[in-house]
Amino acid sequence: MEVGAQKGTISQYFAVTNAVPTAVIIVDAAGEIVFANAYAEQLFGYDYLELTHKPVEILVPLSARGAHTKTRRAYANTPSSRPMGKGRVVIGLHKNGTEFPVEIGLSPISTHEGEYVMGVIFDMSVQARQAKMLHDYAEALEHSNRDLNDFSYIVSHDLKEPLRGIGSYSTFLLEDYGRVLDDEGKDKLQTLVRLTRRLEDFLDSLLFYSRVGRAELAMQPTDLAALVHDILDSLAEFLREHGAQVNVARDLPTVVCDGTRVGEVFRNLVANAVKYNDNSEKGVEIGWKQGPNNQPVFYVRDNGIGIPKKHHEKIFSIFKRLHARDKYGGGTGAGLTICRKIVERHSGNMWVDSEPGSGSTFYFTLSVPPVIDQTTIAQGSGEDHELD
Ligand code: ADP
Repeated sequence: MEVGAQKGTISQYFAVTNAVPTAVIIVDAAGEIVFANAYAEQLFGYDYLELTHKPVEILVPLSARGAHTKTRRAYANTPSSRPMGKGRVVIGLHKNGTEFPVEIGLSPISTHEGEYVMGVIFDMSVQARQAKMLHDYAEALEHSNRDLNDFSYIVSHDLKEPLRGIGSYSTFLLEDYGRVLDDEGKDKLQTLVRLTRRLEDFLDSLLFYSRVGRAELAMQPTDLAALVHDILDSLAEFLREHGAQVNVARDLPTVVCDGTRVGEVFRNLVANAVKYNDNSEKGVEIGWKQGPNNQPVFYVRDNGIGIPKKHHEKIFSIFKRLHARDKYGGGTGAGLTICRKIVERHSGNMWVDSEPGSGSTFYFTLSVPPVIDQTTIAQGSGEDHELD
């Protein structure tokens, strides 16, 4: 035992390790067990006398013994402390032939009698079982998610065709037999055409939603400033019609993402910011701020009608609208569900901060560090970034 620079004796180590509440064995330079505490006896199913003076390899499955001997010899040449947690998880062999995972921490010990290695052994069976259960559970969940996605894809895809037929035949009826129908009959047919289109819109949204869940993301460095610029260009007519002014932060970073998908998120949020807005001067801000772990949090803010707190989650559910069918330009109520799905596929989050009458701010993260503007982010310190 080293007290200051002084070495101890091996029996002092035996006394200390006997009191340690986990399995400990001490092995000499030749790989022979010279000591095993009660926990080690219990873990491997041997008596003390069965363990001592035996090669440590009796605790290792046959198939791994050769490799273990090599590793042990290499360790004896350059011994160093390998604490638990940084140790290796290997397979141990019980006297009854059962194999089980163990983690081993190693420490070289220098005594008056010579050089030894102390191994602290931790039974990892429970952890391994839990890890396997978690893994199986995640796999099953992923599987059922995929099934659900496939199901909604197939259903929406296959329903579209007969629905389109119904729509077309209703239109033919109106065109070819409109003359022989009275006003009530025509009115009913027109309602049928309108409802068919609406159902088609729902199916298109569902199809798009399941596509977002199925398709591989095309991840690459994407200049969000250029991306947002393009999106606003394509919305120029819509923005002009509604008299909306959009301000964009000058320093939107470049991040690794699927640009097409993230563009859809910005497009949806900007369109909503303008749609759900009664303000005579409709204003939209697109920016970002530094979030936890240097992660950018992007936002789209408006001065529109706002959303009561109790609906902050509801609006992300598919086909949920807070207004009458045709109010505020109509819609299927799938836009935000799709936005959140895209963000979640980038391992990010999306949420809203809003109050009726005070406008809304939609935030999202993409869970990927920016690839270029690291310096700007380091300087960001949680402040919103300057707008143009
Ligand atoms: P849609 O616009 O087709 O109804 P969304 O999923 O995009 O579908 O939005 C769901 C609902 O959330 C909208 O019907 C609206 O009630 C509300 N909403 C979305 N964006 C805003 C916003 N910027 N301001 C106020 N309400 C909003």
